[in-house]
Amino acid sequence: MKLKLIITGIVILIIGLGLGSYLDEYLFVEKEEQYIPKLIVLGDVENILAITGLEEYDPDEFVYQNEEFLGIDLRRLIDKASPITDRYTIQLMGTDGLTAEFPGDNLTGCYITFTQKHGWEAINLHHPVSSNIKSLQEITIIADGSNWDRGMNLMTTEKNLLNITPGQALANSYTTYLNFEGSVQLENDDIDYQTKILTRKRILQLKDLLPEGTKGQILVFGKKGETTYHQEGFLEISGNRFNYLSPTRKEEIDNIQGIMINPPVNSIADTFYDAEHYLETGERVLIFLIDGFGYHQYTYVVEHGLLPFMSTLQPAKQALSVYRPVTNAGMAAMITGVGPEKNGVYSRAQKDMLVPDIFTIAEKTGKKSLLIEGDIKILNTGVEPILNLDTNGNGTKDDEIFTTAMENLSTDISLMFVHFHGVDDLGTEYGDLADETLDFITLVDGYIAQLVQGWSGKVIITADHGMHQIPGGGLHGVARFEDLIVPYIITEGGGKNE
Ligand SMILES: [Zn+2]
Repeated sequence: MKLKLIITGIVILIIGLGLGSYLDEYLFVEKEEQYIPKLIVLGDVENILAITGLEEYDPDEFVYQNEEFLGIDLRRLIDKASPITDRYTIQLMGTDGLTAEFPGDNLTGCYITFTQKHGWEAINLHHPVSSNIKSLQEITIIADGSNWDRGMNLMTTEKNLLNITPGQALANSYTTYLNFEGSVQLENDDIDYQTKILTRKRILQLKDLLPEGTKGQILVFGKKGETTYHQEGFLEISGNRFNYLSPTRKEEIDNIQGIMINPPVNSIADTFYDAEHYLETGERVLIFLIDGFGYHQYTYVVEHGLLPFMSTLQPAKQALSVYRPVTNAGMAAMITGVGPEKNGVYSRAQKDMLVPDIFTIAEKTGKKSLLIEGDIKILNTGVEPILNLDTNGNGTKDDEIFTTAMENLSTDISLMFVHFHGVDDLGTEYGDLADETLDFITLVDGYIAQLVQGWSGKVIITADHGMHQIPGGGLHGVARFEDLIVPYIITEGGGKNE
């Protein structure tokens, strides 16, 4: 009896174990090892998502056609990808290319589920049934309208022509291009087996974006200030960004921000070479950096008689700033003669330059230099700046900066660099062409007039970047012509040589 029980127990145990491992193998293990294709959320989002399972997204239960499903709430999914605009359109694309598109503002009852039968599947309980896509492969977020501070901007030196985001490019027609990566050869039994490796890229032809009849150079800006000059090329749509590929495909810039047709010959980096040249020939140099003074503002104040001194000089040339057109990057280019790619300053976050600045160069040849700044050190320059506070509390430091510069005009300084800040401050607060900003430009023009009058030697007047209008004020730091094109003037001081 006892033995029988034990044997039965053992048999049950064996069956149990067997069944257990059977279940494991056919239900659980199998499920874990099952191949789940990636569902990609891309386009105009901060984060590209590659979804490989429902579990990571905390799915909800819902009922569709009397069947129970587990699904990811589409709104929650999209929020996780973080769209770059509040208003957007959604495209759901299946592996067969079938695509449903609807606005992103009402997503109640929209779920993404995964089943053995249909793979990833969009089930939208309240939308027309044709919005339900089986074998879903991609969810593309498409920003509505123009978003000049996002995506990629195409411009001339006088006009912003086109803003396009990766989502908008994906939502419309693009070309699929097979990029040849290389070929591999293997010999087996005296037979050569050859394989070509290609990558499939979604591209826009640059020439299709340019206005008809465009001739000349094209300048492409990358996010870290990389630049390349070409006449044509491709834009690769890569997830949530554009990359530029040169016509020969040998050159590539990741995450491009802007393309300028026929950029100016001059650049703010010329400041360095012009100053270096004058110092070498024994001349003194006075450099003015008018912060946030764009070329379009210059022409506006000249036309309206608001630039009494500078308009008596040779007309300013257009000079190219750098991407990003912010103070650190612009000033670094001015004083090093090279762009962010080489000097390492491409945003407000960098203060150290990778190459010597004009102050260091001057110092090496025994020439004294002076950098007259506001209340903050912008960059770690070769000379310590003289900082100026708003001691009289009139809301600007430019009058104190002016006074400090006046006091040093007739010293043994060979290179003086004066950085006026107020045009940027007021432009940001009121707008690039607001009366407050224009009045301040006139004020700075007066400061410069007096300093030039008292200076013996060469004078360079330019800006770190420009400024554009936004609702209620101004902004810079964007790939737009207003931010990227600044005036550049060289003149002679009116003071006597000592
Ligand atoms: Zn600035």
